[in-house]
This record gives sequence, structure tokens and C-alpha cells, in this order.
Amino acid sequence: MKLSLIIPCYNEQDNIMPFFEETVKAFQNMPKAVRSLEMIFVNDGSNDMTSRNLKDLYNSYSSVVTVVEFSRNFGKEAAMLAGLRHATGDFITIIDADLQQRPEIVVKMVEHLLQNEDCDMVAAYQEERIEGKLMSFMKNTFYKFINAASEIDFFRGASDFRTFRKNVAEAILSMPEYYRFSKGIFSWIGFNTHFMPYIAEERFSGTTKFSFFKSLKYALEGIIAFTTLPLKLATGVGIFTFALSILYMLIVIIQKLFFGVDVPGYATIVVLILFLGGLQLLLTGVAGEYLARTYIQGKNRPLYIEKQVLKPKSTELNEGNINE
Ligand code: UDP
Ligand code: MG
Repeated sequence: MKLSLIIPCYNEQDNIMPFFEETVKAFQNMPKAVRSLEMIFVNDGSNDMTSRNLKDLYNSYSSVVTVVEFSRNFGKEAAMLAGLRHATGDFITIIDADLQQRPEIVVKMVEHLLQNEDCDMVAAYQEERIEGKLMSFMKNTFYKFINAASEIDFFRGASDFRTFRKNVAEAILSMPEYYRFSKGIFSWIGFNTHFMPYIAEERFSGTTKFSFFKSLKYALEGIIAFTTLPLKLATGVGIFTFALSILYMLIVIIQKLFFGVDVPGYATIVVLILFLGGLQLLLTGVAGEYLARTYIQGKNRPLYIEKQVLKPKSTELNEGNINE
């Protein structure tokens, strides 16, 4: 049995070697059923020494290491997808390069999969997170909204840190969408998932690549990718305001015809114009967001470009490269 690790790397120069060493150390406790290992590092257009360090690592350990170099930064989602396309293992793990997610947990995930035949995927989730009140509130709102709006369940706190069987990987690869929101994809494909709590460590070196605004953008991507509720809300709001305006129109006409009231009405008119104008722009914007995605998807561009791929040198060596 073979295990593939997929490690997306964006400006992780000082984490590559420690990650490799810690992983090799932790994997000494890997169940004996796992006989070989491959580590697929996807360099997502880093502009530091990541590429150099990955090549050095490859030159020293070319029987286990695969390096995929992107031509520029395409984002973590694209990096995970590339890793999945290159993975040849029976079990596949997605793990960050910064050692926030300890490799010891991968051993536990693999053990769980080995012991539970009917379990297809083990997903790690953070029970408690040290984060600001605003971030926590935003996340709560996001999960409430998306769980109410979409037909699939989103598990709060579950990350991309997962180990799954080959058939799960095939299911993920069968989803051709351009805007990839992995939390949604993992839920959408189904399968028996076991959620395993874990505590995220401090980043070993470097800084996070996900700022508040990047996370907000990512959350909006998720909502647009997995629900059409905003579009339906737009229709609802449109019908509601249309009904109200007909009512108000009748009131104005009746006032004019029967009571002859000729109200100056400047304030009313300005408020109505601004309100309806704003509302129309907002609803057009919502529809535009969906339309733009259809347009981009229609172009059928690849999700990433590979500049170079360094494959494990000897497949013979690659068989049984651990636990021997
Ligand atoms: N990452 C990537 N491309 C990006 C941003 C991040 O491949 O555009 C990788 C990054 O190198 C790391 C993982 O995704 O291995 C998670 O990123 P990070 O640690 O910054 O996120 P956080 O743990 O803070 O959520
Ligand atoms: Mg991290």
C-alpha cells in the first residue's frame, strides 16, 4: 500500500527541510501496511528560495520526492488539484508545508482508514481556534448561511487537512469546475467521512498567506460556487419591491384623482430614486457575479500551468521505500 502526500508550497523556503525531516521521523510509526511513500511538493509560484530548496531536496531524496513547479502563483486550490493529478498512492493526504498540521496526525488518519474499511476519508478539524471576535463571528455567519442555502453540509472548522482513499481522489478529479472551493467539493462528493479533532500548531516559519480579505473573498467564492440562493433572493427582493411600488402608485393616483392633493414630494422622489437605483445595481451585481463565473468557465482555461515536473527517479526504489 502506498501513501501520497500533497504539499502545496507558496513562499515556504524555511519550512521545506524541517517539514521533510519531521515527516520522515513521524512516519517511523506508520502502520506496516503502508510500504511506500511519495511526497508531492507543488511550488505555487513562490518568489523566495522555495524552488531552490525543493530541487535540493529532490536531488537528495529523488525516490520519494516529486516536485511540481507552477509558472506563477495560481492559489492553494490549484496546487492541491495538481497534486491530486500526480498522486499515485492508495491513500492520499493533503497537508500544509508550515508544520501547523503535524505529520503524526497523518499516521493516526491512516490507522483509522486501515481499521475502518467503510470509512473513505478522515478530515481533521480544529475544535478550538485562537482567533479574533470579528473573524469568529464572520465564520459563524458563513457556516449558518451556506448550510441553510445549499443542499450539502459544511462541517465547521474542517480544513483541507485530510487523508482519503483513491476513489475519493478520483471523485474530486471528476469535478471540472474552475472556481474550486475545496470545503464544498469535499462535502459535495459525499463518502463516509470521519472528523478527527486536532490542534493546529504555530507556523514553523514565515507568515500566513490568507489575510482577512482573502478569507472573505474565499468565503464569497464558496457561497457563489455552492448555492444559487443569492440569485433567488434577488428575484424575491425584486418581486417584493415591485409589489410595493404598485401599491404606492395606486395611492398616488387615488390621491391625485379624488383629493387633488398635489404634494411637492421632492424628498419622496429623491429617496425612491436612490433606493431603487441602488437596489437595481446591487441585484445586477449579484447576477453579474454568477455570469462572470459562467464566462470564465466557458473559456475552459487550465487551472494552472506547470513549468517543470521532477518525478521520482526510480520506481523500483519507490516500491517499499519505507518500513523496510
Ligand atoms: N499556499 C499555496 N498557495 C497560495 C497560498 C498558500 O500553495 O497561494 C499554501 C501554503 O504554502 C501552505 C498552505 O497553502 O502550505 C496553507 O497556507 P497558510 O499556512 O498561509 O494558511 P493558514 O494555515 O494560515 O490558513
Ligand atoms: Mg498555515
